[in-house]
Amino acid sequence: MYQLLCPDAMPESLFDIDFDKLTDLGIKGIIFDLDNTIIPWDSSEMCPDICAWLTEVLGKGFKVSIVSNNWHSRVRKIANRLDVPFVARAYKPAKFGFRSALATMELGPEETAVVGDQLFTDVLGGNRLGLFTIWVKPLTRNEFVGTKIKRYMESWVVRRLRAKGLIR
Ligand SMILES: [Mg+2]
Repeated sequence: MYQLLCPDAMPESLFDIDFDKLTDLGIKGIIFDLDNTIIPWDSSEMCPDICAWLTEVLGKGFKVSIVSNNWHSRVRKIANRLDVPFVARAYKPAKFGFRSALATMELGPEETAVVGDQLFTDVLGGNRLGLFTIWVKPLTRNEFVGTKIKRYMESWVVRRLRAKGLIR
């Protein structure tokens, strides 16, 4: 149970993701969550530094797609800006959004990482499919009220994972 909630990596921020390590692991594609991972939850714009960083990631040759639980137009706008495929209303931790992204990228789960800010959607969903899961801190503390409740549950899980020695 706890293994499914345990991220494979917990970098300080997006910018600290170790792409050389991902390449060594055979990772060729990255699925990004949208809200509070690459854009703040309360904004419809990407920060220029994140936009530049994502362009760099694409430039390194990684395939990129966005899988979001948010609605279509919001997700499409950002995906179009980056010129990457997307799945909206993915109902993560359901598997179908991730599966659809894998099919579009023509990659297997063992070749793909997922980057997201939520344990119960991004990390749980990614682990269910055997993706390499990267848990990043949310871009803003301003969140949907349901998410705030999940944050309390996340901190409880993190304490359990630490106690079990699964994460540092
Ligand atoms: Mg998110």
